[in-house]
Order: sequence, then structure tokens, then C-alpha cells
Amino acid sequence: MAQDRFGRHIHYLRVSLTDKCNLRCVYCMKEDMVFQPSSALMQDDELITLIRVFAELGFDKYRLTGGEPTIRPHVVDIVREMNQIPGVDKITMTTNGVLLPELARPLHDAGLQRVNISIDTLDPVKFKKITRWGTLDTVWNGILAAEEAGMTPIKLNAVVVRGFNDSDDVINLAALTLDHDWQMRYIEMMPFGDVAGFQQAQVVTDAEIRATIESEFGPLELLDDGKLDGEARLYRIRGAKGAIGLISSVTHPFCASCTRARLTAEGVLRLCLLRDKEVDLLTPLRAGATVADLKQIILDGVWHKPWGHGLARDVIPVSRVMSQIGG
Ligand code: SAM
Ligand code: SF4
Repeated sequence: MAQDRFGRHIHYLRVSLTDKCNLRCVYCMKEDMVFQPSSALMQDDELITLIRVFAELGFDKYRLTGGEPTIRPHVVDIVREMNQIPGVDKITMTTNGVLLPELARPLHDAGLQRVNISIDTLDPVKFKKITRWGTLDTVWNGILAAEEAGMTPIKLNAVVVRGFNDSDDVINLAALTLDHDWQMRYIEMMPFGDVAGFQQAQVVTDAEIRATIESEFGPLELLDDGKLDGEARLYRIRGAKGAIGLISSVTHPFCASCTRARLTAEGVLRLCLLRDKEVDLLTPLRAGATVADLKQIILDGVWHKPWGHGLARDVIPVSRVMSQIGG
């Protein structure tokens, strides 16, 4: 079992399959983003070897992410192989949904249980402005394909950016929960590396998001006594089928209940999304480290997992942006 020095049991791994993406969201990366050569990333066999080691250490929950995980070559085979590893209980994915019309069913058949799909607005013109390269129709079809394939409950993620999607868009997305048993989750924008200036200037807090939703639908009902679902606090619009989730990583971090670590596409263990502390696993693996060596490196890394982020004191992660960590 992997435990940190604060007594937190770490058993949830977010695995980045690639740093590359088929979109260029304004809050995530620059349009001329430069990516790693494929040789610098974990190859399929290396990825599976490392997951086996994590599973033996008690990591049972996995979320595939990126970059855009669906553009990783052999993604369906990777899911199938991961699903056969003893100890791997749950595999989910965070995706922009663009390729789900083709991939939802094969991914689900291979063992992917659920997807979180990013959709920041229902306005096609704004959608293009935020994602730069995306079209709303494709992502909408991706959501429907995921639901049809049985990857339920569907969870949708919106990052709220001032001046882009902070008013009508928040309301229209919330209205989806009236008729759909979906969870609509709003994420406070976090600052990273060379896009931090933009991110800090345009951040919208969970209190503001909630007030916007309540201005249209009336007071939200708190669900599960405020207990977090992952990182989201859940609410419901009166009479709605689905739920609203508020993810307030910036204003109300959930560090005390954190159970997660991240494996970047370059095979580096990142102990906290918002802290630069990392431990390289791929270099030792390529140098011939044994399973026992790798286990020790992971346990030592987890032990030193930072307690929480330092955004309130302007300590911003600088070594990587979100797509290079695995959001
Ligand atoms: N490409 C996939 C997607 O967009 O869903 C997976 C990777 S993306 C980095 C994971 C999640 O992080 C998405 O929901 C995205 O909206 C969110 N995200 C990206 N940049 C962010 C930022 N600066 N602050 C908060 N969330 C961010
Ligand atoms: Fe790509 Fe996801 Fe980043 Fe958008 S948020 S650019 S879809 S990795």
C-alpha cells in the first residue's frame, strides 16, 4: 500500500497517454504548442509494465487522460491490457469527446467503464473560439455515443473562463441536467507555466458559478451532505434528473482527501497536479530497474507527496502545463 507522510492512502492513478491533442483550448495550451517526440513517451509495453507495478502497490483506480487520450495509437488495446491486470478495478477516461463517435463502443467493450467529456459551451461559435480547432456537433455526438455505449453516468466538464463562457453558457449547460441524468461539472481554471497569466486573470470562482446558476434556476439543493464525489461537490436544480458538480480546486482545495498521483506520458510520477515535485520512472525502467526497484522508487515518491497547492501564496507550477501533466 502506498501512503504519504500525512497518512493519506494513495491508490488512484491518472495516466497520461500522450501530451498531444487534436484541439487547442485557450485555457490549456498555446496554438503553436510543441510536443514531445513519441520516443520520449512511454511505449505500450513500458506503460503496461508500470501499471502492473502500481497495481501491485494497491493502485486500483485509473483514469486515462492527456493531452487527448483517444489519439494515442492502440488506445483500445491499452485499455484491454490494463483491464486484465490483477488489482486494476476501475478504468475511466477524461476526453474532449471528438473521437468518441467511433471509439466509445470499442473502448467500453475493452473495459473502459466511464468517460468525463469536456464541453465548455453549447454555443457553436464560442465552442470554436474556446477550443480553436473543435466543432460542437462532433463533441455532442461523442456524448451521445458514450451514453449509447453504456458508459454511464455521463459526466461533463466545463472550465469557466471569464469573458468566454461565464454567463449564458453556464446556465445553458446546467439546463442539460433538467432532462438528462448527467453530471454537469464546472471547474475553476488553474494556472500553469507560460499560460498562467491568462488563467489567473480570467478565473471564475465556484461561488460565482453557483450564483449564476441560481440566478436562473433558484437555490440549488446540496447532495450527499456535501460529501465530495471525486473532486466535485454535488448539487441539484429542483426537479432535475441530473446533478451539478462544482470543482473548486483554486478556492477550496480538497487536499486532505486526496488519494491520487499522476503518471505523465513521459513516465514521470507527478505527486500533485499543482506542485512541481516529480519522480522519473521511465529512465530507471529503461536502465534495467527491477520491479522491486520501481516499487521502492514509487513508495519513496508517494511518501514525499506535497500536502497541497500554494496558489494563495502565488506559488504556481512552472515545469509543465496541464496537457503535459495529465489533467
Ligand atoms: N483532452 C482531454 C479533455 O480535454 O478532456 C483530457 C485532458 S484535459 C488537460 C483534462 C481536463 O482538464 C479537461 O476537463 C480540461 O477542460 C481541464 N483543463 C485544462 N486546462 C485547465 C486549466 N488551466 N484549469 C482547469 N482545468 C483545465
Ligand atoms: Fe486538448 Fe483537453 Fe487541453 Fe483542450 S483541454 S487542448 S482538449 S488536452
